[in-house]
Amino acid sequence: MQNFYYSVALPTPLRQLFTYHSSTKIAPGSRVAVSFNRRNLVGFIIKSCPKPNFKTIEIKEILDKEPTFDNESFQTLIWIANYYHHSIGEVFNNFLPPKLRKINFVLEKIANSETNTQVIKGSKTYDLTPDQKNVISQIQQSKGFDPTILHGVTSSGKTEVYLQLTEKFLKQDTSIMILVPEISLTPQIYERFRSRFKGNIGLYHSKRTDKERFECWQDCKSGNTRILIGTRSSLFLPLQKLGLIILDEEHDPSFKQHEGVRFSSKNVALKIAQDRDIPIVLSSATPSLQALELVDSKNYKFLSMPTRINGDLPPSFILHDTRTATKKAGIDISLFPIIQKTIDRGKKVLIFLNQRGFAPLLSCNACSWSALCKNCSVKLVFHKEDNILLCHKCQKKYEVPKKCPQCSSGKFHYFGVGTEQIESELKNEFKEIPLIRFDLDTTRKKGSLEDVLKKISDSNSAILVGTQMIAKGHDFSEVELGIILNCDQGLISHEPNAIEKLSQLLIQVIGRVGRSGTSKVIIQTDYPDDKNLNALKEGNYLRFSRYLLGEYKRLKLPPYVSIALIRTKSKDLNASMLFLRDIRSTVEASTNAHCIGPLPAPLNKIKNLYRNYLLIKDKDLIETHKTISKINAAIGKTIEDKKIQWSIDLNPSDYS
Ligand code: ADP
Ligand code: ZN
Ligand code: ZN
Repeated sequence: MQNFYYSVALPTPLRQLFTYHSSTKIAPGSRVAVSFNRRNLVGFIIKSCPKPNFKTIEIKEILDKEPTFDNESFQTLIWIANYYHHSIGEVFNNFLPPKLRKINFVLEKIANSETNTQVIKGSKTYDLTPDQKNVISQIQQSKGFDPTILHGVTSSGKTEVYLQLTEKFLKQDTSIMILVPEISLTPQIYERFRSRFKGNIGLYHSKRTDKERFECWQDCKSGNTRILIGTRSSLFLPLQKLGLIILDEEHDPSFKQHEGVRFSSKNVALKIAQDRDIPIVLSSATPSLQALELVDSKNYKFLSMPTRINGDLPPSFILHDTRTATKKAGIDISLFPIIQKTIDRGKKVLIFLNQRGFAPLLSCNACSWSALCKNCSVKLVFHKEDNILLCHKCQKKYEVPKKCPQCSSGKFHYFGVGTEQIESELKNEFKEIPLIRFDLDTTRKKGSLEDVLKKISDSNSAILVGTQMIAKGHDFSEVELGIILNCDQGLISHEPNAIEKLSQLLIQVIGRVGRSGTSKVIIQTDYPDDKNLNALKEGNYLRFSRYLLGEYKRLKLPPYVSIALIRTKSKDLNASMLFLRDIRSTVEASTNAHCIGPLPAPLNKIKNLYRNYLLIKDKDLIETHKTISKINAAIGKTIEDKKIQWSIDLNPSDYS
């Protein structure tokens, strides 16, 4: 019997293909079941190949009646694996709904399905403002791949633009993909689409069940779903006749995946749009420096909606010197009367602090002991409601000790403040006012996010306390006062992109606040003279980001240079330092790149694995790819250390 030979990608970190045979012809992009090192794995057919001169194993089962990935997606996925220097099998696996990752799941041919996605008659639409009209007509005029960076301040009517664009693209018989950075943003936008369009609207993210995710995948494939809303994992859902991609909150670091395939959804979405020759909109109230640089260097379209729909001015922005302040739950007590006045006027107060839990540190009063995680190099956070100490990195829970493990003293002190503490202190201070906490702990359970959002919209005066979740894209009404508590961390951070991230966060918080002339945002800081904070105070993000771009160009920071971070994780600290030193030698001997490190990562140990990195700076991405090829070639030859897990992070958004 004739055999066919195939190069198969497997979901393992090994960056190579494996040869298997079968008596059947199989199309590239199909899933197959194979045996690998005595394990059964789902593999992906990449290409047919000649009979090799070694013995091959037979493919156990063909799992797809037609390929899971169409040809265009297949090509883009291969590009991702090359671009991010990652194992092809893991890349394919990453973008499958969980059910399709299972070895026993056979995919039958999916029948085409007719769809009637269209605007609901009588649903409320608006007469567009001149800015909205301009944006829609310019995007509609796009011919093929034509990226638009859309700057629109909060409440400038961006979502309305998405809705009306969707209507126009549906009329041309194409599908529309809308990507948001976080699950917490999906309910709001999904509802807006639901109330405008009838027919199936796909909703895809990792909090949906395996069944729901598979059904969503299936509905895209059959053509039943023409509008898809989702997070980065939905990039390769098989929407038919994709005609437009909208990436909302483009600046958000959550679009970058931090584990496994470290891809940027933005880059991948751009690549998908390019491969399919369709328009793409990257939208934000605070466009990233990367996006603005693309406008300069690649002539991407730049459109702006600089005013709020209702003509409201942005709130005033006050730097509040806290160097000598007396604080309660992290808030200067001199601000309490302003909080009270806002509440008395029937308005809401928003307090932003990027730390959940009650207190981020427990330590002994008598000696130097403080509560650290046994597995990670981080302090344990005290969660009062659950009465536990929790590691926010490995999620290990610890009992709160009765006595100090070092000196047996029974007296402890809690340092620092988390959102739980603000909630409990302010409940005492401002009785009878709803206090709504919005963080990972209050939104974890299924349905609780919707509950919190509903509680916020149902109440008149209220105090909202939240972490970065509260700063993102939500539309809260009647917030007249914002207080930002720990922005100083961003000012003193050594991350190259710290000021960019801080400025986006501050402008985003401002976006949640203020309608009337009396609304304001107060930033508590010990650095009231800081140059950047004072420049930001004007509230003009675009002007500030232009100034920052100038600074980054002068300092040779991204987006004007390209960075590859080689990260290692290992039980053996010395071995990983040696591994990185070898890489540094290779780079220095064979390229013009500039290396910093090896260094311990700021979070030096997580789950008992030491983390180190080597930062490699090249003049552009092309040079970085050359450098990485040199590293890959050298690693194959010289380093056999299996104790080290390593990964490449291209232009990282996070250096922890
Ligand atoms: P963004 O997404 O930029 O925050 P939205 O699209 O949510 O802005 O618009 C803000 C508010 O203004 C919403 O309540 C929306 O329904 C309303 N809106 C949007 N466009 C218009 C318009 N052209 N005329 C009147 N109201 C509008
Ligand atoms: Zn002690
Ligand atoms: Zn831990």
